Amino acid sequence: MAMRRGDWRHSAVAAAITARALTQRSHVLLRASSTSASSEGMGSSACVALQNAGLEVELVQCLSDNYCPIFHHAASNVTFVMDTPEASSIAAALKKKGWTLTHILNTHYHDDHVGGNMDLKAQFPGVQIVGHRSSEGEAIPGVDLEVCEGDEVQCGALRARVLEVGGHTASHIAYFFEEVPMALTGDCLFTLGCGRVFTGDFVRMQASLGKLRALPDETVVFCSHEYTAANADFAVKVEPQNVALQARREAVQRLRSARQATVPTLLGYEKATNPFLRWDVPAVQQAAGGLADAAQVFTAIRRWKDTGNPPAARL
Ligand SMILES: [Zn+2]
Repeated sequence: MAMRRGDWRHSAVAAAITARALTQRSHVLLRASSTSASSEGMGSSACVALQNAGLEVELVQCLSDNYCPIFHHAASNVTFVMDTPEASSIAAALKKKGWTLTHILNTHYHDDHVGGNMDLKAQFPGVQIVGHRSSEGEAIPGVDLEVCEGDEVQCGALRARVLEVGGHTASHIAYFFEEVPMALTGDCLFTLGCGRVFTGDFVRMQASLGKLRALPDETVVFCSHEYTAANADFAVKVEPQNVALQARREAVQRLRSARQATVPTLLGYEKATNPFLRWDVPAVQQAAGGLADAAQVFTAIRRWKDTGNPPAARL
Protein backbone atom coordinates (compact mmCIF):
# COMPACT_ATOMS: atom_id res chain seq x y z
CA MET A 1 0.00 0.00 0.00
CA ALA A 2 3.02 2.27 0.03
CA MET A 3 2.80 5.21 -2.32
CA ARG A 4 5.70 7.14 -3.67
CA ARG A 5 5.58 10.89 -3.63
CA GLY A 6 3.67 12.11 -6.64
CA ASP A 7 1.99 8.76 -7.25
CA TRP A 8 -1.34 9.62 -5.78
CA ARG A 9 -2.89 11.00 -8.93
CA HIS A 10 -2.63 7.70 -10.75
CA SER A 11 -2.49 5.07 -8.07
CA ALA A 12 -4.76 2.12 -8.71
CA VAL A 13 -4.34 1.09 -5.11
CA ALA A 14 -6.20 3.68 -3.16
CA ALA A 15 -8.14 3.52 0.01
CA ALA A 16 -11.82 4.12 0.06
CA ILE A 17 -13.32 6.60 2.36
CA THR A 18 -16.47 5.38 3.95
CA ALA A 19 -18.21 8.32 5.36
CA ARG A 20 -21.49 7.74 7.05
CA ALA A 21 -23.07 11.11 7.54
CA LEU A 22 -26.17 10.08 9.36
CA THR A 23 -27.99 12.86 11.08
CA GLN A 24 -26.87 16.16 12.42
CA ARG A 25 -24.51 15.63 15.34
CA SER A 26 -23.72 12.11 14.27
CA HIS A 27 -20.18 11.34 13.32
CA VAL A 28 -18.65 10.31 10.08
CA LEU A 29 -16.38 7.33 9.95
CA LEU A 30 -13.28 7.27 7.83
CA ARG A 31 -12.29 3.75 7.01
CA ALA A 32 -9.54 2.65 4.71
CA SER A 33 -9.89 -0.28 2.35
CA SER A 34 -7.96 -1.25 -0.74
CA THR A 35 -10.80 -1.76 -3.13
CA SER A 36 -11.81 1.40 -4.88
CA ALA A 37 -10.05 3.87 -7.10
CA SER A 38 -9.13 7.39 -6.12
CA SER A 39 -10.81 9.05 -9.08
CA GLU A 40 -13.17 10.95 -6.81
CA GLY A 41 -10.34 13.24 -5.89
CA MET A 42 -11.40 13.60 -2.30
CA GLY A 43 -10.74 11.61 0.77
CA SER A 44 -9.87 8.32 -0.82
CA SER A 45 -6.23 9.04 -1.55
CA ALA A 46 -5.96 11.01 1.64
CA CYS A 47 -6.83 7.92 3.64
CA VAL A 48 -3.73 6.15 2.38
CA ALA A 49 -1.44 8.82 3.76
CA LEU A 50 -3.24 8.85 7.09
CA GLN A 51 -3.10 5.08 7.35
CA ASN A 52 0.58 5.04 6.47
CA ALA A 53 1.22 7.56 9.23
CA GLY A 54 -0.55 5.30 11.73
CA LEU A 55 -3.38 7.77 12.20
CA GLU A 56 -6.96 6.75 12.77
CA VAL A 57 -9.44 9.55 12.12
CA GLU A 58 -13.02 10.17 13.17
CA LEU A 59 -14.64 13.08 11.42
CA VAL A 60 -17.29 14.35 13.81
CA GLN A 61 -20.15 16.43 12.48
CA CYS A 62 -20.98 19.32 14.79
CA LEU A 63 -23.49 22.17 14.80
CA SER A 64 -24.99 22.72 11.34
CA ASP A 65 -21.99 22.32 9.05
CA ASN A 66 -18.81 22.06 11.12
CA TYR A 67 -16.43 19.15 11.14
CA CYS A 68 -14.20 18.22 14.03
CA PRO A 69 -11.60 15.65 12.99
CA ILE A 70 -10.34 13.49 15.86
CA PHE A 71 -6.90 11.99 15.24
CA HIS A 72 -5.68 8.97 17.20
CA HIS A 73 -2.06 7.90 16.97
CA ALA A 74 -1.98 4.54 18.70
CA ALA A 75 1.82 4.17 18.56
CA SER A 76 2.30 7.17 20.82
CA ASN A 77 -1.08 6.98 22.55
CA VAL A 78 -2.20 10.51 21.73
CA THR A 79 -5.57 11.76 20.55
CA PHE A 80 -5.95 15.27 19.23
CA VAL A 81 -8.62 17.36 17.57
CA MET A 82 -8.65 20.32 15.24
CA ASP A 83 -10.90 22.79 17.09
CA THR A 84 -13.92 22.06 19.29
CA PRO A 85 -17.19 23.29 17.77
CA GLU A 86 -19.16 21.68 20.62
CA ALA A 87 -18.16 19.35 23.44
CA SER A 88 -21.03 16.85 23.45
CA SER A 89 -20.64 15.23 20.05
CA ILE A 90 -16.85 15.19 20.33
CA ALA A 91 -16.98 13.63 23.79
CA ALA A 92 -19.47 11.02 22.56
CA ALA A 93 -17.20 10.06 19.67
CA LEU A 94 -14.19 9.83 22.00
CA LYS A 95 -16.12 7.67 24.44
CA LYS A 96 -17.27 5.33 21.71
CA LYS A 97 -13.66 4.80 20.60
CA GLY A 98 -12.30 4.62 24.14
CA TRP A 99 -9.84 7.43 23.39
CA THR A 100 -8.54 10.00 25.89
CA LEU A 101 -8.21 13.48 24.46
CA THR A 102 -4.63 14.73 24.84
CA HIS A 103 -4.43 17.86 22.63
CA ILE A 104 -6.79 20.48 21.25
CA LEU A 105 -5.25 22.30 18.29
CA ASN A 106 -7.23 25.50 17.87
CA THR A 107 -7.04 27.44 14.62
CA HIS A 108 -8.87 30.64 15.64
CA TYR A 109 -11.16 32.12 18.23
CA HIS A 110 -14.60 31.85 16.60
CA ASP A 111 -17.21 30.16 18.79
CA ASP A 112 -17.79 27.32 16.36
CA HIS A 113 -14.08 26.46 16.78
CA VAL A 114 -13.48 26.91 20.51
CA GLY A 115 -16.97 26.41 21.92
CA GLY A 116 -16.13 22.99 23.41
CA ASN A 117 -12.70 23.87 24.83
CA MET A 118 -13.64 24.37 28.48
CA ASP A 119 -16.09 21.46 28.70
CA LEU A 120 -13.60 19.08 27.13
CA LYS A 121 -10.86 20.34 29.43
CA ALA A 122 -13.11 19.58 32.40
CA GLN A 123 -13.73 16.07 31.09
CA PHE A 124 -10.09 15.48 30.12
CA PRO A 125 -7.98 17.40 32.68
CA GLY A 126 -4.72 16.29 31.05
CA VAL A 127 -5.56 17.87 27.72
CA GLN A 128 -3.26 20.56 26.34
CA ILE A 129 -5.01 23.38 24.51
CA VAL A 130 -2.84 24.92 21.81
CA GLY A 131 -3.74 28.23 20.17
CA HIS A 132 -2.38 31.40 18.70
CA ARG A 133 -1.02 34.18 20.90
CA SER A 134 -3.75 36.27 22.43
CA SER A 135 -4.53 39.37 20.54
CA GLU A 136 -7.20 42.02 20.92
CA GLY A 137 -10.58 40.30 21.07
CA GLU A 138 -9.34 36.99 19.66
CA ALA A 139 -8.51 34.99 22.81
CA ILE A 140 -8.61 31.18 22.84
CA PRO A 141 -10.51 29.90 25.93
CA GLY A 142 -8.35 27.80 28.26
CA VAL A 143 -5.23 28.01 26.12
CA ASP A 144 -2.20 26.25 27.68
CA LEU A 145 0.33 26.75 24.92
CA GLU A 146 0.44 29.90 22.81
CA VAL A 147 2.23 29.48 19.51
CA CYS A 148 3.27 31.55 16.52
CA GLU A 149 4.80 31.13 13.05
CA GLY A 150 7.46 28.43 12.93
CA ASP A 151 6.76 26.97 16.37
CA GLU A 152 6.54 23.21 16.61
CA VAL A 153 3.82 21.38 18.48
CA GLN A 154 4.52 17.83 19.60
CA CYS A 155 1.61 15.39 19.63
CA GLY A 156 3.23 12.16 20.81
CA ALA A 157 5.60 11.12 18.05
CA LEU A 158 3.98 13.49 15.58
CA ARG A 159 5.20 17.03 15.09
CA ALA A 160 3.23 19.95 13.67
CA ARG A 161 4.68 23.21 12.41
CA VAL A 162 2.59 26.30 13.05
CA LEU A 163 1.77 28.53 10.10
CA GLU A 164 0.27 31.96 10.66
CA VAL A 165 -2.51 32.26 8.10
CA GLY A 166 -4.36 35.42 9.06
CA GLY A 167 -7.11 36.81 6.89
CA HIS A 168 -10.34 35.11 7.98
CA THR A 169 -9.38 36.39 11.41
CA ALA A 170 -6.27 38.40 12.14
CA SER A 171 -4.64 35.67 14.22
CA HIS A 172 -5.74 32.45 12.47
CA ILE A 173 -3.13 29.67 12.43
CA ALA A 174 -2.80 26.33 10.63
CA TYR A 175 -0.89 23.18 11.63
CA PHE A 176 1.34 21.32 9.17
CA PHE A 177 2.40 17.75 9.96
CA GLU A 178 5.23 17.31 7.49
CA GLU A 179 5.76 13.60 8.08
CA VAL A 180 2.18 12.64 7.12
CA PRO A 181 1.95 15.15 5.28
CA MET A 182 -1.21 16.79 6.60
CA ALA A 183 -2.44 20.36 7.11
CA LEU A 184 -5.21 21.46 9.47
CA THR A 185 -6.46 24.64 7.84
CA GLY A 186 -9.56 25.61 9.85
CA ASP A 187 -11.43 28.41 8.10
CA CYS A 188 -8.53 29.54 5.92
CA LEU A 189 -8.46 27.01 3.08
CA PHE A 190 -11.62 24.99 2.35
CA THR A 191 -12.17 22.18 -0.12
CA LEU A 192 -12.66 24.19 -3.36
CA GLY A 193 -12.96 27.45 -1.43
CA CYS A 194 -11.60 29.63 1.34
CA GLY A 195 -12.94 31.41 4.40
CA ARG A 196 -14.51 34.82 4.31
CA VAL A 197 -12.35 37.74 5.34
CA PHE A 198 -13.55 39.04 8.72
CA THR A 199 -11.05 40.54 11.15
CA GLY A 200 -8.09 40.02 8.83
CA ASP A 201 -7.71 41.57 5.40
CA PHE A 202 -7.68 40.43 1.79
CA VAL A 203 -3.97 40.97 1.19
CA ARG A 204 -3.06 38.87 4.20
CA MET A 205 -5.57 36.20 3.25
CA GLN A 206 -4.00 35.82 -0.19
CA ALA A 207 -0.53 35.62 1.36
CA SER A 208 -1.79 33.00 3.81
CA LEU A 209 -3.29 30.91 1.02
CA GLY A 210 0.02 31.29 -0.81
CA LYS A 211 1.78 29.85 2.22
CA LEU A 212 -0.55 26.83 2.18
CA ARG A 213 -0.25 26.48 -1.60
CA ALA A 214 3.51 26.10 -1.20
CA LEU A 215 3.05 22.83 0.74
CA PRO A 216 3.46 19.52 -1.13
CA ASP A 217 0.69 18.33 -3.48
CA GLU A 218 0.16 15.15 -1.47
CA THR A 219 -0.64 17.08 1.72
CA VAL A 220 -3.92 15.88 3.24
CA VAL A 221 -6.05 18.93 4.02
CA PHE A 222 -8.63 19.02 6.78
CA CYS A 223 -10.82 22.12 6.81
CA SER A 224 -13.61 22.92 9.24
CA HIS A 225 -16.76 23.11 7.13
CA GLU A 226 -18.73 21.17 4.55
CA TYR A 227 -19.21 24.00 2.04
CA THR A 228 -17.85 22.13 -0.94
CA ALA A 229 -20.96 21.79 -3.13
CA ALA A 230 -21.60 25.55 -3.07
CA ASN A 231 -17.88 26.18 -3.51
CA ALA A 232 -17.83 23.94 -6.60
CA ASP A 233 -20.79 25.81 -8.11
CA PHE A 234 -18.93 29.08 -7.66
CA ALA A 235 -15.60 27.70 -8.91
CA VAL A 236 -17.09 26.74 -12.30
CA LYS A 237 -18.33 30.29 -12.74
CA VAL A 238 -14.75 31.49 -12.38
CA GLU A 239 -13.22 28.79 -14.57
CA PRO A 240 -15.89 27.19 -16.77
CA GLN A 241 -13.27 25.66 -19.10
CA ASN A 242 -11.28 23.88 -16.37
CA VAL A 243 -11.81 20.19 -17.17
CA ALA A 244 -10.36 18.98 -13.87
CA LEU A 245 -12.75 21.28 -12.05
CA GLN A 246 -15.75 20.03 -14.00
CA ALA A 247 -14.87 16.43 -13.12
CA ARG A 248 -14.34 17.40 -9.52
CA ARG A 249 -17.67 19.16 -9.29
CA GLU A 250 -19.38 15.99 -10.50
CA ALA A 251 -17.47 13.99 -7.90
CA VAL A 252 -18.56 16.45 -5.22
CA GLN A 253 -22.19 16.13 -6.29
CA ARG A 254 -21.95 12.32 -6.15
CA LEU A 255 -20.38 12.39 -2.70
CA ARG A 256 -22.88 14.86 -1.30
CA SER A 257 -25.91 13.10 -2.73
CA ALA A 258 -24.62 9.98 -0.95
CA ARG A 259 -24.23 12.18 2.17
CA GLN A 260 -20.50 11.59 2.21
CA ALA A 261 -17.92 14.09 3.37
CA THR A 262 -15.68 16.01 0.96
CA VAL A 263 -13.17 16.53 3.77
CA PRO A 264 -10.31 15.74 3.81
CA THR A 265 -8.94 16.55 0.39
CA LEU A 266 -5.48 16.59 -1.14
CA LEU A 267 -3.69 19.88 -1.74
CA GLY A 268 -2.77 18.87 -5.29
CA TYR A 269 -6.45 18.77 -6.21
CA GLU A 270 -6.94 22.21 -4.67
CA LYS A 271 -4.06 23.68 -6.63
CA ALA A 272 -5.66 22.39 -9.84
CA THR A 273 -9.25 23.44 -9.15
CA ASN A 274 -9.68 25.87 -6.24
CA PRO A 275 -10.14 29.41 -7.66
CA PHE A 276 -8.75 30.95 -4.47
CA LEU A 277 -5.36 29.29 -5.07
CA ARG A 278 -5.18 30.13 -8.77
CA TRP A 279 -4.51 33.86 -8.92
CA ASP A 280 -1.71 33.33 -11.43
CA VAL A 281 -3.77 31.32 -13.94
CA PRO A 282 -4.70 33.44 -17.01
CA ALA A 283 -8.33 32.26 -17.06
CA VAL A 284 -8.77 33.25 -13.41
CA GLN A 285 -7.07 36.60 -13.97
CA GLN A 286 -9.43 37.19 -16.87
CA ALA A 287 -12.43 36.27 -14.73
CA ALA A 288 -11.16 38.72 -12.10
CA GLY A 289 -11.63 41.53 -14.60
CA GLY A 290 -8.25 41.37 -16.31
CA LEU A 291 -6.11 41.87 -13.21
CA ALA A 292 -2.63 40.40 -12.78
CA ASP A 293 -1.50 41.22 -9.22
CA ALA A 294 -1.98 38.17 -6.99
CA ALA A 295 -3.65 39.99 -4.09
CA GLN A 296 -5.90 41.96 -6.43
CA VAL A 297 -6.97 38.85 -8.34
CA PHE A 298 -7.72 37.05 -5.09
CA THR A 299 -9.63 40.04 -3.72
CA ALA A 300 -11.76 40.34 -6.86
CA ILE A 301 -12.66 36.64 -6.80
CA ARG A 302 -13.38 36.65 -3.05
CA ARG A 303 -15.61 39.74 -3.37
CA TRP A 304 -17.42 38.07 -6.27
CA LYS A 305 -18.16 35.09 -4.03
CA ASP A 306 -19.25 37.40 -1.18
CA THR A 307 -21.55 39.61 -3.22
CA GLY A 308 -22.64 37.40 -6.12
CA ASN A 309 -21.55 40.15 -8.51
CA PRO A 310 -18.78 39.28 -10.97
CA PRO A 311 -15.96 41.79 -11.41
CA ALA A 312 -16.42 44.30 -14.20
CA ALA A 313 -14.08 43.77 -17.12
CA ARG A 314 -11.32 46.37 -17.34
CA LEU A 315 -11.20 48.47 -20.47
ZN1 LIG B 1 -14.22 31.15 11.62
